Amino acid sequence: MIIEESSPGRCLLARLDHGAEIISQITDIARERKIRAAAISAIGALSRADLGFYDQAGRVYLVRAVEEPVEIASCAGNISLLDGQPFVHAHAVLADRSGVTFAGHLVRGSIFAAELFLQELPQQDLHRTPDSQTGLKLWTGEQNSGEKR
Ligand code: ZN
Repeated sequence: MIIEESSPGRCLLARLDHGAEIISQITDIARERKIRAAAISAIGALSRADLGFYDQAGRVYLVRAVEEPVEIASCAGNISLLDGQPFVHAHAVLADRSGVTFAGHLVRGSIFAAELFLQELPQQDLHRTPDSQTGLKLWTGEQNSGEKR
């Protein structure tokens, strides 16, 4: 288990840009504001999205395209460091016009309108590195990373 403790840092509320790709835009915000760790949530709507499901046996993401307008009923995630750069990991529950939901790892999504809440956790320094048990890039603590702030 890896546990990092932090006092809350900056809180951001942001209206994201119509037509932008949501993961890229959140990553840009983190990079521009030098945010290394954060909890994030978002609501709004996407014009389309790609959702991932991690095939645990095959160790590969299976990606499902959602080619219709959807509400972001819920989107939660975090920001940590991958190769020294801010990396956004987010999951989403998306609802179509009938309320039917699609959910999974949010690979990408085209923003129709979206509102982001970001809570910086400035004392944390979580780095993602390859994990042999899962095939995923998971957190390691600062003591294992070999990199200091
Ligand atoms: Zn995920």
